[in-house]
Amino acid sequence: MASIPGNRVEPADSEVSKADPACHVDDPVRLHTLAIRGSTSGQTVTFEPAPLVSCAMASAVADWLDTSVQPLARGYFTLSLAGMQVGGGQECRRRNRDSSGPISEHATGQALDIFAFKLAEGGKSETILVEKPSGLVQNRFLDAVRQSACGAFMTALGPGSDAAHANHLHVDIQARRSRSSRFCQ
Ligand SMILES: [Zn+2]
Repeated sequence: MASIPGNRVEPADSEVSKADPACHVDDPVRLHTLAIRGSTSGQTVTFEPAPLVSCAMASAVADWLDTSVQPLARGYFTLSLAGMQVGGGQECRRRNRDSSGPISEHATGQALDIFAFKLAEGGKSETILVEKPSGLVQNRFLDAVRQSACGAFMTALGPGSDAAHANHLHVDIQARRSRSSRFCQ
């Protein structure tokens, strides 16, 4: 991935704590910038702050941006995706920050929380907050983005799913027990 022009994805093995084996991350990377493939203008997407995720997760995000988010940004706003405000990269913890229960998908670098999409082009820009989209077009864009995330990831949760996801879109590639347990709310 790092070899694709415009990508800034750095190995992050030394940043992952080895203390808890439950929080092992396969091929950890720090995701700074991804190039939109097939973009003629060399469009890149910057992640703020740069999350630590598994390489497989970084790759799933890159595919999703190329095939869904960027085309939707063009379709709804005639702008390009330029940045994403994110959180919830690798962090050794349990789901929803409970003190017990299953280890969070975030613990293994297989998840990302998205708080805002930043679109820009030719001096025009638009920021879309997941928690509070402004107006009908932003609402529709977010609905379409979320729908596309259901196909691109194993799980996509956002506002309306539950209280823990009221202000962000959570996507992860954690394999669940069976295909039928794949969920999307
Ligand atoms: Zn999350």
